[in-house]
Amino acid sequence: THFGFRTIEKDQKVAMVAEVFHSVASKYDLMNDLMSFGIHRVWKRFTIDCSAVREGQKVLDLAGGTGDLTAKFSRLVGEKGEVVLADINDSMLKMGRSKLRDMGIIGNVNYVQANAEALPFPDDYFDCITISFGLRNVTDKDKALRSMFRVLKPGGRLLVLEFSKPVVKLLNSAYDAYSFHILPKIGEMITSDADSYRYLAESIRMHPDQETLKSMMEEAGFDGVGYFNLTGGIVALHRGFKY
Ligand code: SAM
Repeated sequence: THFGFRTIEKDQKVAMVAEVFHSVASKYDLMNDLMSFGIHRVWKRFTIDCSAVREGQKVLDLAGGTGDLTAKFSRLVGEKGEVVLADINDSMLKMGRSKLRDMGIIGNVNYVQANAEALPFPDDYFDCITISFGLRNVTDKDKALRSMFRVLKPGGRLLVLEFSKPVVKLLNSAYDAYSFHILPKIGEMITSDADSYRYLAESIRMHPDQETLKSMMEEAGFDGVGYFNLTGGIVALHRGFKY
């Protein structure tokens, strides 16, 4: 692709990810529904169900984008709780804030522009952190996982929802064909930006598989790390605890 994904330097990846999400922000929700046939809603529902978030708790929805998870957490934590929607990209953050305000979600949600690699929050602050379809865009994933570990309370949990490696070989080939050929075409039609969706396909292929991500979370300090394969491993939900 014109991004030359395999050889880019760190600064170039940061700029490229910024360019991709500035470009797709206004059509992001529509594209999510089209590309996943609406199934991303089921994956996100499952994440919420595994979060065990209760009234009064503090939640960080990291790389939260247009705020699908934030909206659900806001209802769960109630007025005594707090949800922080953090994202590095101001276009995505603005879309998220305006969508949530239109839904009447105000009061217990704060919006913070932040890089997952250097979170601007105190130690031991959040009961739960989620990062949904965000980690693969982060340049230094180990640094980001360590930063999440630092801001999590002892007893808290991290949930990472991300594309992963399909467990069935046939599904793997079909999924590759879909993401490299069909996905950029849908992107071109809806956003006039096929390159951003080519980046998406490449970033999915480059992302660590289930076992590698599990080891990375353990390396960052998390205990009791496990994962659920969703839709045949196209997506996986990893969960780890800070004890
Ligand atoms: N979490 C939302 C969801 O599941 O629909 C949005 C996911 S979107 C595919 C990825 C998001 O990650 C974008 O909003 C992007 O700006 C954000 N992002 C990329 N790199 C980041 C970083 N280093 N720190 C924080 N957010 C980042």
